[in-house]
Amino acid sequence: LPVVAIVGRPNVGKSALVNRILGRREAVVEDTPGVTRDRVTYKAEWMDRRFSLVDTGGWEPDAKGIDRSVAAQSEIAIDLADVILFVVDAMTGATATDEHVVRLLRKTDKPVFLVANKIDDAVHEPEAAALWNLGLGEPYPVSAIHGRGVADLLDAVMKVLPKVSAVAKHEIGGPRRVAILGRPNVGKSSLLNKAAGEERVVVNELAGTTRDPVDEIVELGGKLWRLVDTAGIRRRVHLSQGADFYASLRTSAALEKAEVAVVVLDVSQPISEQDVRIIDLVLESGRALVLAFNKWDELLADDARGGDRRRLLEREIEQDLAHVAWAPRVNISAKTGRHLDKLVPALEMALASWDQRIPTGKFNAFITELVQEHPHPLRGGKQPRILFGTQAGTRPPTFVLFTTGFLDPGYRRFVQRRLRELYGFEGTPIVINMRVRE
Ligand code: GDP
Repeated sequence: LPVVAIVGRPNVGKSALVNRILGRREAVVEDTPGVTRDRVTYKAEWMDRRFSLVDTGGWEPDAKGIDRSVAAQSEIAIDLADVILFVVDAMTGATATDEHVVRLLRKTDKPVFLVANKIDDAVHEPEAAALWNLGLGEPYPVSAIHGRGVADLLDAVMKVLPKVSAVAKHEIGGPRRVAILGRPNVGKSSLLNKAAGEERVVVNELAGTTRDPVDEIVELGGKLWRLVDTAGIRRRVHLSQGADFYASLRTSAALEKAEVAVVVLDVSQPISEQDVRIIDLVLESGRALVLAFNKWDELLADDARGGDRRRLLEREIEQDLAHVAWAPRVNISAKTGRHLDKLVPALEMALASWDQRIPTGKFNAFITELVQEHPHPLRGGKQPRILFGTQAGTRPPTFVLFTTGFLDPGYRRFVQRRLRELYGFEGTPIVINMRVRE
């Protein structure tokens, strides 16, 4: 989906605008400065056009950190969005922080909309007009709270929003899109350099590809791959506060553009909550997943320490990563180059699973057999039956079961497990939806 990102300094009404666009009344989270929201990407729709809405305002810095945080937000938006909405509080007028953002936004050739917020009635429209002198073109007067002007703004946005996301254009026949993710210092940039070589192909030199300065096309295993958002790997945002939020923002935004994610973990350290959070973001995005356990060179020493850590790691994987046991694992060393050749086959397998489609006939034969062998347990004297099933989509594989009652979560897990046993689906999440006919 094409990506629209909302940027602006704290308290200009970014969340209110997000809610208005999503057509909801309540705030995503109340406007308390310093509150961190986990969610940064939303699926939105306007006039039958679907797009991803990225709210960069999930973490509102205190006065001291404002300029850097807002700059970091804007930088991410500029890198990863197709269209940027820059929100200004028109009743306050442009502040020094706003002008700081304007300088950053002037450097991009992506469309930027200047949203003059808090214009609750026509009387205040001159306040919006005053923002012309920011040099970002026509200000759009809106009231995010009351909804005034938002329709006009969205109509204008839809005119420039690419029909197909700039990245989706490469889908047919183009290099497949990979995001390298992981917390800081796990070895992402080392992996990038070792696997792809220090001299990498420049995207715009390849025929038929659109220039996106944050992506790189590299050759791995004799094939071309598009590594999305490599800028996020090379360029680190150093912030005293809110760094986690920016990391999530960057991860979510990169996932929007990717088909498959390589989540890099550092085996010399315990698996952390942050590692699991990143993996969960991949699951939520529905992208294919490969787990790369890096720094294996450190565990190879045949002394007691190496052995202890190896055993501990197995336990941690069982405990913390059981829900992604289907993801291919590669044990690599970006330092020595160990097993880097295993990465490409893992990526290919995950993508093949992500694309896999089971014909309806076969799927129903599978359902029939499964129900015979292991019927749904009786519930209140009745037994929910599966009447029919079909695979409604791929990327990730999504199934619909038509049933006569809700299936227990345990039974749904059983269906999933059997599907994986029979068809593999290694490296991809599977979605099972139900349509209940009472
Ligand atoms: P990033 O923040 O994820 O991009 O991590 P870097 O690639 O900058 O690596 C962080 C640190 O880990 C650096 O000091 C690297 O030299 C080191 N490192 C990366 N990969 C390996 C590895 O496979 N083995 C060992 N021993 N160290 C590594």
